[in-house]
Amino acid sequence: MAQVKHFLRGVLLGEGLVPSDTRSLALFCPGCGEVWYTISVAGSLWSVTSHWCGDCGSEWDMPPGSIAQTDPALVLSANYIAYLPPAVVRRELELHLNAAEKES
Ligand SMILES: [Zn+2]
Repeated sequence: MAQVKHFLRGVLLGEGLVPSDTRSLALFCPGCGEVWYTISVAGSLWSVTSHWCGDCGSEWDMPPGSIAQTDPALVLSANYIAYLPPAVVRRELELHLNAAEKES
């Protein structure tokens, strides 16, 4: 296992452990050009993926600011959810609940 830290706009959001073959991931917003979310895995190489920040848009039908993705090739696959720090899970849940509330 390797230590992982999640940063939202440079601020530590949560940390935990992930399988040691997990890559670090930077989410780059195609709207503002900012790397707005990083998942830093100790000792790993980095990947960068295009992913809208909450200020500029949203991914598919996800709420703005969600880091959830459906591409199984990426680190944020369903299997990876088990390794998300509690604060990250809480943030995702709040984003989804707020979005559902606005729709109803
Ligand atoms: Zn943006």
